[in-house]
Formats: sequence, structure tokens, C-alpha cells
Amino acid sequence: MTTRQDALALDARDPLAALRTQFSLPEGVIYLDGNSLGVLPAATPERVAAAVRDEWGTGLIRSWNSAGWVDLPQRIGDKIGRLIGAGPGQTLAADSTSVNLFKVLSAALAIVQAGGDPQRRVIVSERSNFPTDLYIAESLARQHGFTLRLVEPDEIAAQFEGTLAVLMLTHVNYRTGRMHDMAALTRAAHGCGALALWDLAHSAGAVPVDLIGADVDFAVGCGYKYLNGGPGAPGFLWVHPRQLERMERDGLWQPLSGWFGHAAPFEFSPHYRPAAGIVRFSCGTPPVLGLTALEVGVDTLLAAEPLGGLAAMRRKSLALTCHFITLVEKHCAGHGLSVITPRTEGERGSQVNLAREEGAYAIVQALIARGVIGDFRAPDNLRFGFTPLYTRFVDVWDAVEHLRQVLESGEWQEARFHQKAAVT
Ligand SMILES: *Cc1c(COP(=O)(O)O)cnc(C)c1O
Repeated sequence: MTTRQDALALDARDPLAALRTQFSLPEGVIYLDGNSLGVLPAATPERVAAAVRDEWGTGLIRSWNSAGWVDLPQRIGDKIGRLIGAGPGQTLAADSTSVNLFKVLSAALAIVQAGGDPQRRVIVSERSNFPTDLYIAESLARQHGFTLRLVEPDEIAAQFEGTLAVLMLTHVNYRTGRMHDMAALTRAAHGCGALALWDLAHSAGAVPVDLIGADVDFAVGCGYKYLNGGPGAPGFLWVHPRQLERMERDGLWQPLSGWFGHAAPFEFSPHYRPAAGIVRFSCGTPPVLGLTALEVGVDTLLAAEPLGGLAAMRRKSLALTCHFITLVEKHCAGHGLSVITPRTEGERGSQVNLAREEGAYAIVQALIARGVIGDFRAPDNLRFGFTPLYTRFVDVWDAVEHLRQVLESGEWQEARFHQKAAVT
């Protein structure tokens, strides 16, 4: 792709091009932030309006049954399951990623403790994991007498020993775009008797994931990134059937034992009895409107299934990120940018991160003022997400051209681009 014409030609040949019409993208915007907040699907406003107007307004409380509200967490969970290599009845759409992590990591620690080896008390994660994951793990480690050990990616291989309780990693790193080998690391964790827990926040709906094939124990993920569920959308959690069976057999609970995870919530019994299967990981009343929007978002990804699904999306995403890296290196050379995302295809998620010693925040702001939306991650990181459902090759071309102009003109040095907002 050496000219804008080449980019347009790639778009003309793109087998997924038609899927872009599922989205309501504002004019004049090149959106490279679907890894942070996915775009509004065109069908969402009317679907949510109908849920409000008809299901809530007319159906009222009857809609828990008649509109299937009560089954939404499992129904949408099963749809998400199709994107992450899960079988039916294994995934639940619920709560935030942080809360879901609290539930599944607690369950993992309870399983380890039930194993009876007091030496096995270390949770290993990556120092540059998304902080909320580390904060949740830190809290649980304190509560249950475990140690949270934070390591660099190249130190993970040295962690597989008898003290390891849980390997807790995010599949695609938010700051580097680097993707781990889920199957190999899970195998290594199992090889030393530990459990493997994966956060799919930057992979569900972006790269192929095969939880059953990789033999993972627990997983969580996010609903508002690549799943296009809207701001604050519920996330999801997944538990391998063998761990669900084990919890049942050994009488282990997840700690947020709310009534929606009860075996018979409408018996109103004073004592908790966990539901069978994944439903035991529910806590309180499901957020129906948020789930309704999330379902539309997930459907935009399932619409790719007849066109090759995630394999086709992955091919396009790798091409988009590869062209972006190549063009940045060619057209923005000499401006102090370095590409920190791996070039090896198997190690790259669906985003590209650039680093620059000075001005990363202001450069991102200057790009946003031009309608090219990426984001800044402290202290020096410019992050661009490439969602294959609606990003075109010409968007990659134009984004790099804007970046080149911002750097060459020095416009990012204007004072207005240096004011930090609350959310970056
Ligand atoms: C985005 C993201 C989250 C978000 O957690 P919330 O509870 O939804 O705020 C968690 N973990 C990772 C790895 C993420 O990328």
C-alpha cells in the first residue's frame, strides 16, 4: 500500500467491507478507538427505544418473563461464547470486567485452597497489565493470604513452579498491543499444577480466541470495547465446565452470592444455595437496558460469521495494523516515534501503540481535533485500535497522513492541545 489509491483498491476488494454499514459513524471522523469504546451500531437506538417503550413501558414487570429479560445474561453470554471458543451455557454477560474478575479470581483461589497445598500461594501477573486487574488481584491476595507477583513478559516463563496458584494475564496488552500465546502459557500453568485465568478485554471480538481448545480455566472480558455494547456496557465471564463441576462437588461459592446466582431466587429462602452451572456467577438484578444494547453490539460481530467470521476479521486486522506500522515508519520517520507493538503477526493484537518521549498527549489531541480519534495512555503512549468491522484501509492511509502533518507542522505544540482532560 504505497498510495491512497492502493488503499481504496484494498477496500474495494475487502470481503468484510459491507459490515461497516451496520454502524452509525459520524461524518469526518476516522475512529481508531474501538478498542476503548466501540462505535454505536445503527440498530441500537431503535432497539433500546423499543425495550424502553414496549418492554418496560407496556410490558412492565411482566417483561421479566414475556420479553425474556431474566435470560438475557445467559442468552447474550452464549452469543459472546461463539466469539471466544466457548460452548453453550459457559459464558455469562454480567457486571463490569473488574467485578467479574473479582468473582472468578476468588473462585480460582478457593479451588487452589481446597487443593490443600499451603505452599501454592502466588498469583502471577504482568506488571503492565491493565491496573484494575492488578488492583482486584491485590485485594484478593490480601484477603486470602496469597502473594501477587508482578513480572515482565520475558519473566513469565520462569514462574512455572510449585508455588504458582494462578497465572492471571490479559491476552492482548493495552499498552503494547502484544498478544500472549494463550494455549502455551495455559499448558505451562497446568504443568505445574496452577490455574490459568485470562482477561479478554482487548481480544473478544478482535482476534480469534479458543478457550476450550486452549483449556483455560477462567476468563473475563469487556462489553464496551470490540463488542460495541456502549459506554459502561456489562462485561462477561466464562468458566470451564470442569471448574464449575468442581465448585459444585466441593461446595465452593463465588463470594458475591447474590440472589440471581441462587438456585431458586424466587423461593426467597434465607439461605444461599448456588445455582447450577454458570448462573452461580450471577449476583444481582441484570441491567436490562445495558444488556439490550450489548446484544445489538455482539450481533454486529456475529454478522461476520457467514463472511468468514473471526478468521476473516483477523486477516483484515493484521493487514490494517501492518499497513499502519509500515506507513508510520515511512511517512513519519525522523519525528521521534517508535513502534512498540510487535511486528510478528502471532504476537500482535488489533491495535498499534507508538511511543514518543515528548508530546504524546498533545499529538493525540491534535489528531482528535482533525477528526482522527485514537487515545493517549500515560506516560508516553499513542494508541490506535483497528476494528476490522468498520475500519477501512483508506482510514489507515488518511490517519497516517494526518499524523505526518501534525508532526511536520508542529501544530501539536499549540497550548490548546496540552490541557489534560479527566478521561484520556
Ligand atoms: C478495559 C479493561 C478493563 C475494564 O474494566 P471495567 O471494570 O469495565 O472498568 C479491565 N481489564 C482490562 C484488561 C481492560 O482492558
